[in-house]
Amino acid sequence: MTRLDLKPLAYDLFRQTLDLFLPLSCILCNSNTIRPISLCQGCQNKIISAEKIPEKTIISAMKSKPSWQKIRYLGNYNAELRELILAGKFQDNLAALKTLGQLFAQNICIEGYDPELVLIPVPLHRNRLKSRGYNQAYEIALPLAKQLGLKINRQCVERHIEAKTQHFLSREQRMLNAKTLFQTTVHKTNYFTDPLRFVVPKKVALIDDIYTTGATIESLSNCLSAAGAEVIEVWIIATTL
Ligand SMILES: [Zn+2]
Repeated sequence: MTRLDLKPLAYDLFRQTLDLFLPLSCILCNSNTIRPISLCQGCQNKIISAEKIPEKTIISAMKSKPSWQKIRYLGNYNAELRELILAGKFQDNLAALKTLGQLFAQNICIEGYDPELVLIPVPLHRNRLKSRGYNQAYEIALPLAKQLGLKINRQCVERHIEAKTQHFLSREQRMLNAKTLFQTTVHKTNYFTDPLRFVVPKKVALIDDIYTTGATIESLSNCLSAAGAEVIEVWIIATTL
């Protein structure tokens, strides 16, 4: 190892040691908080203490029986979650997405989960991924995978149709738009790739930031179910229902 190689290592160690002693502040209200989540207890309570909409209400809002079996989400789309999600999605604030993932992981750990689930972040179309530079669902999945000891698979399925900005569409248009947004990627395997990464896992948890009509999630779930997924859970940060 050369002296040059040592520099970044020494810097990382220095940063990590410094981090242990520097106070962490809440990314919403700036008050001091306790590691590792950059959200104070007050802001955490605002996010998770609101009464949740029961799963059967979410299912009854859909036009037909969902192809997934279970849905869980961190909280209702209130002011605090809205601020964090929008910062993560449109202001390149990856720390906000990491914080959401950490808090969700804590929540899921308390409720319990199947350790064989493989996390599948809802894929972005390659054009959207290129313009944004990152997939917010993947950024949320990272701390979930780390804290819960689960794998992430983002190779087995892709978004092959670019949806128009959903925000401006009616509920019916969104449902129609989302019908065949995704396709599995098994046809893309070649000599240089790991074929296992292209096989749809038997048990999956689909990760996304917001659940509105559920049309995008249903489209992805349908696609994975047809490709062999037998257990499909939906893990969402917030629902607007
Ligand atoms: Zn706070």
